[in-house]
Amino acid sequence: MTNVLVVAEHDGRTVSSATARTVRCAAAIPNAEIAVVAFAANGAALADQIATLEGVRRVLLVDNALHAHPLAALMAPQLAEIATGCSHVLAPATTFGKDLLPQVAALLGTVQVSDIMAIETATRFRRPIYAGNAVATVEVAALPLVGTVRIASFQPAAAGASHAPVEHVTPTASLPTHTRFVSQTVAAGDRPDLQSARRVVSGGRGLGSAENFKRIDELAALLGAAVGASRAAVDSGFAPNELQVGQTGKIIAPELYIAVGISGAIQHLTGIKDARTIVAINKDAEAPIFEVADIGLVGDLFAILPELNERLAEVLR
Ligand SMILES: Cc1cc2nc3c(=O)[nH]c(=O)nc-3n(C[C@H](O)[C@H](O)[C@H](O)COP(=O)(O)OP(=O)(O)OC[C@H]3O[C@@H](n4cnc5c(N)ncnc54)[C@H](O)[C@@H]3O)c2cc1C
Repeated sequence: MTNVLVVAEHDGRTVSSATARTVRCAAAIPNAEIAVVAFAANGAALADQIATLEGVRRVLLVDNALHAHPLAALMAPQLAEIATGCSHVLAPATTFGKDLLPQVAALLGTVQVSDIMAIETATRFRRPIYAGNAVATVEVAALPLVGTVRIASFQPAAAGASHAPVEHVTPTASLPTHTRFVSQTVAAGDRPDLQSARRVVSGGRGLGSAENFKRIDELAALLGAAVGASRAAVDSGFAPNELQVGQTGKIIAPELYIAVGISGAIQHLTGIKDARTIVAINKDAEAPIFEVADIGLVGDLFAILPELNERLAEVLR
């Protein structure tokens, strides 16, 4: 039996779909016995949710007021303690997992494999390299292994009728005092979360200004979609940093991705490789985005978007 520990990402009330996808990845490890650990404050309801995920055998709940806000510095030493005897420690390759797992790997004195996109054996994995232009197969010489999971590559584990047992655990690891939660600033907005949204509308440098970028918000609102942006749009100040899609932004896998005024540089495309249907609006018929687009509209976005928004509003009325 292979003891796989998955670290749950959540907002205190709801477990993220990234966690359910990580569980699905864990289940692909031969003979995996999956435990999910959640660090939370008053986390009983949360643990019950996790317990219903298909494939989960145990939920380990570290219930402590200290975990009202996730702090990698506090979780890492406790996780290293809980992970004793585990063969694999997995977390989603989101900001949460990328912050936490390297610290755990260091504390365990073991290797990390980042961005796992497929499991071949318990020690052999596939992961993207060169901005997703190539796939490397990597093999670790020994376990335990710490790994972040490329969530766009896995479907979420379904929430079923079964209920795995929930165990309360109280690690004894001494916690650092150099890090404490001060405050959190969350960008206001009522759009769905970019990383889990089924539809995403993204804008690029072609929008020309932050004022014009609001047209992306209009289209996204009509479609109930999340808003994304290219790096050029972010660097130009049209959109905030957390909306960036691509190699150095978010890797997403929506059912529908609409790219407006985005050329389709390889670093952007790596973020949407797993999107199901890609629609591109660009005035340059030679733009590389059209090589990956399922539907392409060649024309001026300032003419196309108002018409598209108007037609959609009629259809959806
Ligand atoms: C290490 C590294 C990491 C990177 N990471 C990322 C990343 O994570 N995400 C990312 O997006 N980029 C990333 N980049 C940058 C990337 O290489 C591109 O520069 C960037 O994606 C370009 O953004 P863009 O398509 O919005 O801008 P441009 O390439 O300038 O394209 C703008 C497009 O808008 C079109 N356009 C202009 N006006 C109109 C109009 N009126 N109507 C219709 N179309 C119009 C143009 O034809 C053009 O195709 C990275 C680069 C490097 C080197």
